[in-house]
Amino acid sequence: MGNSVVEQFYAMDYGVAPEDPKETNRWLDMHERRFGHYIDGQWHKPASGEYFVTSNPASDDKIADVAQADVADVDAAVAAARKALPVWQALSGHERARYLYALARQVQKHSRRLAVLETMDNGKPIRESRDLDIPLVARHFYHHAGWAQLLDREFPGYAACGVVGQIIPWNFPLLMFAWKVAPALAAGNTVIIKPAEYTPLTALAMAELAMEIGLPPGVLNVINGDGRVGALITAHDGIDKIAFTGSTEVGRIIRKATASSTKKLSLELGGKSPFIVFDDADLDSAVEGLVDGIWLNQGQVCCAGSRLLVQERIAETLYEKIRARMKTLRVGSPLDKSIDIGAIVAPVQLERIRSLVDQGVAEGANCWQPEMTMPGKGLFYPPTLLTGVHPTAMVAQEEIFGPVLASMTFRTPSEAVELANNTTYGLAASIWSESINVALDVASQVKAGVVWVNSTNLFDASCGFGGYRESGYGREGGREGMYEYLEPTWLHRSPQKKRAVTVSSGINGQAASVSMSIDRTVKQYIGGKQARPDSGYSFPVHSHDGRLIGEAPLGNRKDIRNAVEAAHKAEKWAKTPAHTRAQVLYYLAENMAQRRAEITARLMQFVGEELAAREVAYSIERIFTYAAWADKYDGAVHNPPMRNVTLAMNEAIGVVGIICPEEAPMLSFLSLVLPAVAAGNTVVAVPSEKYATIMGDLYQIFDTSDLPGGVVNIVAGRPEELAKTLAEHDDVDAIWCFRNAADATMVKAASIGNLKQVWTNDKYDIDWFDPAQAEGRYFMQHATQIKNIWVPYGE
Ligand code: NDP
Repeated sequence: MGNSVVEQFYAMDYGVAPEDPKETNRWLDMHERRFGHYIDGQWHKPASGEYFVTSNPASDDKIADVAQADVADVDAAVAAARKALPVWQALSGHERARYLYALARQVQKHSRRLAVLETMDNGKPIRESRDLDIPLVARHFYHHAGWAQLLDREFPGYAACGVVGQIIPWNFPLLMFAWKVAPALAAGNTVIIKPAEYTPLTALAMAELAMEIGLPPGVLNVINGDGRVGALITAHDGIDKIAFTGSTEVGRIIRKATASSTKKLSLELGGKSPFIVFDDADLDSAVEGLVDGIWLNQGQVCCAGSRLLVQERIAETLYEKIRARMKTLRVGSPLDKSIDIGAIVAPVQLERIRSLVDQGVAEGANCWQPEMTMPGKGLFYPPTLLTGVHPTAMVAQEEIFGPVLASMTFRTPSEAVELANNTTYGLAASIWSESINVALDVASQVKAGVVWVNSTNLFDASCGFGGYRESGYGREGGREGMYEYLEPTWLHRSPQKKRAVTVSSGINGQAASVSMSIDRTVKQYIGGKQARPDSGYSFPVHSHDGRLIGEAPLGNRKDIRNAVEAAHKAEKWAKTPAHTRAQVLYYLAENMAQRRAEITARLMQFVGEELAAREVAYSIERIFTYAAWADKYDGAVHNPPMRNVTLAMNEAIGVVGIICPEEAPMLSFLSLVLPAVAAGNTVVAVPSEKYATIMGDLYQIFDTSDLPGGVVNIVAGRPEELAKTLAEHDDVDAIWCFRNAADATMVKAASIGNLKQVWTNDKYDIDWFDPAQAEGRYFMQHATQIKNIWVPYGE
């Protein structure tokens, strides 16, 4: 080696900078490296006497034994949380805020120990646990102390869900703990949380901190174990809400397992997030972004930028820069402060990464890894770049959950959007361009719950996080996250909710003979046109005194398929300016008002004179309500503590299937369809079965009101059959079922194919004539999903 400064500079290598684990080891020893469950404010030995081992993936060394829960432990935790609920709720928001604040302070005071513990248990570099995870954990408790303080004033009319069951993964053990526990407690719930089997230790350390601050017993319960414990929590009757983060596969299992209950559910699932680089991007910044995007936490990140989409013209230049940067990444002991990439959490995950990369190569990708010495012990995988990946290849579609970047190219912004949306997921996206116009235009078209412009993997407690499509539903963080832990109090709970309504029409009975008294035969309404039912059959519809007054089409799967296709074709409705959508709705109200007498006369045959007049009057008013809402359901701008604004946009969900109730048939139909339409969704609606001919009046006013064809499609028939078809249809993005408990259960279970958002009223009775219950912001919330777009500013 030469002696010049330049030569010395280039020859310089990082030294080893090991973090001292002494304090953490002392803490583990103090617990004799054996942990029970934390239930009712105390440590509990497992009922079964069973323990499992948690070990350090960087060294394979055992760290501690941890109790495995069984049904008795879960029962005890639920009982403790139930008992604590009135105690916790009797406190004022301010008092709860003080506990959350105290927890935040404790996290800060013990941040070093927690960071080391997290790194030992999970394998992530200490740099990340120390500088990212733990500060965000503290921030989450601080932020939510604020929501506890403001709860009564900022969420009037809402109350806590009750006892909440939370199941979290191993990739951000403590951060996920904070994301789950802080909002739940702030909203006044009590909690049972199960950390992942690979990484239980920091949750247990938090339980101890909760004990130290004197959090009332039973408010927070931590129970350990494998997926079986998660399943027990999910199925437990004493739990009111489930919040889950993990794989899409288990998300589906949980959706199905909770289908027959009225548990509220939020799912934060997997992703295959695009990292889109345009040819005008600052490529050096984009490369640094990639380091955070795919090599953070060894790529074991649900929102990792695992698919690099690069504009063709600059692809080779960017790859060169990426390879050069990859050569400087250091893989090794995660407790070394100069390490970039630590250990993979478990042998099964390492094996999964290896086999997916092998498959990617077999499918034609080029695999590049920098030459580096890998540690001799522990679970490590080198940073990997796959280029020339076909968009349909397994490595372009499946979550690898490792330090593996799969790259493909595009030519135009619209091709970039098409590629970006070409997965079943929709968690996050990162967009790199020096043109704010291009970046925001693409951001608006990407199907993802979080979009980072010229940045990546930014998180904050004030900004909602969560996915579109098969990445789940619900948001964590900020005001939007609080709603996941709250229930409306203005709706009336009906524990015995609704038996199936007995329908007096002829569908299930003998075919009624069609007599001359029929004054009305309606058709399906698909794509803005009246269409004969595919079955060729119709069913008789009777008046309230049993007279045959019309025939409605008997819809089947084919009609639903056609209606969904028409709804998709009309999706540009979402891009129609909100002002225009409002105008169309006002026009609808005007047309209904003009035909008020004839519509009332027809409705009278079903519900009698007085109710019909009332229902039509309320219907006109309800249309006005949603004309009003169409351009007023604004988003928000969040202010995370960095030079950045986060735009929380309320976006349409897509195609919404709506199964309408029997009661107040016209008013309930409009009360459900209109918020969806006002928000920019397109709809396939199944009207009341008993009064199906009302659809004739509805589509006539839709037809004459400039509502583009396909925005509202109406298919009549047997609601339970049509609901099932809609719930199973992979091109339907959300389904609302407002009939009875049996249909609600069926719809929830049948929705797991594409994990569509489900809204049912099996918990509440809605009085459609009461505007306080049957319209407004609550409905608009269900009709939209929030996209958080992070836009940095400054040099
Ligand atoms: P899982 O989805 O299996 O685990 C997440 C949590 O759910 C853990 O606490 C787990 O328990 C629990 N769990 C497992 N089965 C059930 C069940 N039937 N009912 C209720 N809870 C259950 O993820 P894995 O840890 O197995 O990882 C597998 C893959 O999932 C990864 O390779 C990755 O692709 C993806 N993943 C995605 C995450 C994300 O944030 N999007 C996070 C983690 C994984 P336990 O750990 O004790 O078995």
